[in-house]
Amino acid sequence: MSLFDVYPLFDITPVKGEDVYVYDDKGNKYLDLYGGHAVISIGHSHPSYVKNISNQVSKLGFYSNSIQNPLQTKLANKLTELSGCTDYKLFLCNSGAEANENAIKLASFHTNKKKLIAFTNSFHGRTSAAVAATDNTKIVAPVNAQQEVEFFDLGDIIGVERSLKKGDVCAVIVEFVQGVGGLGESDAQFYEKLDQLCKEHGTCLIADEVQSGFGRTGDFFAFQKYNIEPEIISIAKGMGNGFPVGGILIHPAIKASYGLLGTTFGGNHLACIASLTVLETIEKESLMENVFQIYSYFLQQSSSIQKHAKVKGRGLMLGLEFDFPVKELRSNLIYKHHIFTGSSKNPNLLRILPPLTLKKEHIDDLFDAIKSELS
Ligand code: PLP
Repeated sequence: MSLFDVYPLFDITPVKGEDVYVYDDKGNKYLDLYGGHAVISIGHSHPSYVKNISNQVSKLGFYSNSIQNPLQTKLANKLTELSGCTDYKLFLCNSGAEANENAIKLASFHTNKKKLIAFTNSFHGRTSAAVAATDNTKIVAPVNAQQEVEFFDLGDIIGVERSLKKGDVCAVIVEFVQGVGGLGESDAQFYEKLDQLCKEHGTCLIADEVQSGFGRTGDFFAFQKYNIEPEIISIAKGMGNGFPVGGILIHPAIKASYGLLGTTFGGNHLACIASLTVLETIEKESLMENVFQIYSYFLQQSSSIQKHAKVKGRGLMLGLEFDFPVKELRSNLIYKHHIFTGSSKNPNLLRILPPLTLKKEHIDDLFDAIKSELS
């Protein structure tokens, strides 16, 4: 059986990872500034991660959500401690799309409404309602298109308000720093007004922190730069450092009842231990402080190529927007300089989504490589 051919692949086969590096089957070493698409948060094969997951799997790898699993409570408590999101409840699932799907469903149950508001250049995943709220018609199948979604440009508060006033919107879903769409962001005035309008009109604000959460922007969540209180926060990617895990943080105003949400694999023992280890490591190794320091070094060093590229994003959710399409540059960085970077919907944007353990010397390696390609 051959594989269903949906991914354009680089001709590289990684077989080993260590912190910010991956090694291929020929022994070549690559600097991983892509982090497997913003997934690797505490570094590849972090010793505590390997040890804790190995210990757990040797005891109990999985049991369903029909028994007591104290690891889920331990994870929820640690998440409260690091995020500062006190009083929220945690529901665990397995991926970013699934987190958003549950977030949207819960908003609809809670408000008894069914329309969604989303934004230009959004990406929320490939499942039913999540993909309908994604600004890419190519990945929305006819069966998904029945979900009613109104799209607005980020910053268009007048349009959003006009729509919310009709009273039929269950949720506004937003990435506070857009990922796949190309690192678009609005400002405090827009986000704070958006939060206020959602509260006035009985609509849930869903903060999609799947990519930007777990310290990637230097704050635990990207929305925490603003004075807002989302009803639901969705998480995944960096949460498990590669172990598939996702979840939603739910405001106490939204009440649970048996059977309202559910999943077989969500919150299993291995997923919990993976995510707990991520949180403990973020704390122990002061990774959020490291993100701020490396971001500020990145900004300084980027001045050496400012004629060609502008910095977008924040923390270690970054991009360099060049005045030309970056496809060839990205390919040269991989094959000639052994540096992985990411792409986005914007063809001129090179994305940097490394493990949060990145050091200044790695930023130097990137800019040296870019400068040699530009010269
Ligand atoms: N939301 C955002 C902001 C994302 O960037 C992604 C994936 O890139 C998703 C949701 C979907 O996550 P997953 O691929 O785990 O379903």
